[in-house]
Amino acid sequence: MAQIIDGKAVSAQIKDELKQKVAAMKAEGTQVTLAVIQVGNDPASSVYVGNKKKACEYIGIRSLAYELPEETSQEELLDLIAELNGRKDVNGILVQLPLPGHIDEDMVIGAIHPKKDVDGFHPQSVGALCIGQPGFVSCTPAGIIQLLKRSGIEITGKECVVIGRSNIVGKPMALLLLRENGTVTVAHSRTRDLKEVTKRADILVVAVGKPKMVTREYVKEGAVVIDVGIHRMEGKKLCGDVDYDSVAPVCSAITPVPGGVGPMTIAMLMNNCVESVALQAK
Ligand code: NDP
Repeated sequence: MAQIIDGKAVSAQIKDELKQKVAAMKAEGTQVTLAVIQVGNDPASSVYVGNKKKACEYIGIRSLAYELPEETSQEELLDLIAELNGRKDVNGILVQLPLPGHIDEDMVIGAIHPKKDVDGFHPQSVGALCIGQPGFVSCTPAGIIQLLKRSGIEITGKECVVIGRSNIVGKPMALLLLRENGTVTVAHSRTRDLKEVTKRADILVVAVGKPKMVTREYVKEGAVVIDVGIHRMEGKKLCGDVDYDSVAPVCSAITPVPGGVGPMTIAMLMNNCVESVALQAK
């Protein structure tokens, strides 16, 4: 029977560790502060922003909320980011994506100071990850590494296959697995014989954005399967990119959806906020 990797429990553990760290920092006079900017009121974004605020509250991180109207201009947003970049009392800046169509997301991400880029999306953060320098790492892939490590799953020397090459999940995931000494293959929509590729994996990370696409035919017996996908099915039930019922019987460990990778993303965002204090002190 496959080990079910419990992201909820691991995320709670990380948040409790951070809570203690933040309390110790407060006792020494350091307050960690995250500025969260939301433009418009997309309901899904509002839920994500609300969850981030709740996590900050739990851990003891001060959160500053900037809820800007949909018609906010790019210039106004960039001005706010410039102001927050300059504030010594703000450690992390997060701009909730997606932004309204009239705002250039790349320009906005690039405007955040790399030492405050707690989402890890700034080109400098990505470059630092690539060449092994200190910097923030995108939260979802960083959370997956924590899930693997804290579940006692060795990465060194393992065949790792990542399906998906997006900038926020697939690519940083591949770089992190490489940093952990995995032998890494990245598959995508142009990959030939995808099943043949994925069947080589000891660790298979699926970030394909297609509900239940990965069935047991894609998975080697005894592999570890990490499902990044989140989809709301009819009847509001959530499912991942992996067909859990088909894959769980053949793998050695698997993340469920919900309760696998999802809860790790916010935990790692909180971790980045706490780490930003040390990074800024350098
Ligand atoms: P993207 O849509 O940006 O990327 C999907 C990737 O999958 C692309 O690289 C694409 O290839 C590849 N792909 C698409 N179809 C196929 C196929 N048939 N065979 C092989 N590869 C294919 O998605 P994201 O990386 O942003 O997200 C992936 C999933 O993870 C989504 O379900 C998303 O909701 C979820 N997610 C979950 C998070 C969490 O906190 N749990 C956080 C972020 C995302 P190509 O590049 O060639 O187009």
